[in-house]
Amino acid sequence: MKLPRPTELAHAFVTAAASPGDLVVDATLGKGTDTLWLAELAGSGGRVLAFDIQAAALDAAAPRLQAAGLADRVQLILASHAALADHAPPDSAAVVMFNLGYLPGHSHEITTSPVETLRGLDAAATVLKPGGLLTVVCYPGHPGGDEECEAVTYWMQHRATTGWRVARYSPIATLRPSPFLLAATKPDR
Ligand code: SAM
Repeated sequence: MKLPRPTELAHAFVTAAASPGDLVVDATLGKGTDTLWLAELAGSGGRVLAFDIQAAALDAAAPRLQAAGLADRVQLILASHAALADHAPPDSAAVVMFNLGYLPGHSHEITTSPVETLRGLDAAATVLKPGGLLTVVCYPGHPGGDEECEAVTYWMQHRATTGWRVARYSPIATLRPSPFLLAATKPDR
């Protein structure tokens, strides 16, 4: 077998955490691959909120959702994930997924950033329901990436001191920095 990549591992965890009918969140829509997948997972009774700061991302994702017949259960939001708590009540989401970095095929200068990502994580912690799952795929090695990965890791470490269960999954023995997954579950009440 091949060991799963961080994005694939995130999907495996999310599959275990979400059920049909749930509210789930894609904090970084991009071209919509994760959102499409989440929409299938949430089922016809579920709802997906998907955020991106670039209109190009929404323009790419919307036709894919339409073509798949999934658009009616997905709300595409042209805003930063920092605004997540304006769109979902506290303790409401089964899953929030972040896949950091830039929109493939577009400017590498428009990317997730440490300050905004931490705001997004704070908001995600609020809207996740008790026992809910947070996943973040981090990309060291591109400009700003190392700093952002460190900031997210620090944020996760702090959560681990407040009752969250947190884990980091990363390949080892690679010659250059590799993406890694941080996964965390919110404490049950
Ligand atoms: N999950 C996507 C997929 O399945 O195709 C890939 C996400 S892509 C690596 C990262 C996306 O995050 C980019 O489209 C970028 O515009 C977006 N982004 C950057 N800053 C953001 C922010 N503050 N809030 C929401 N999205 C942001």
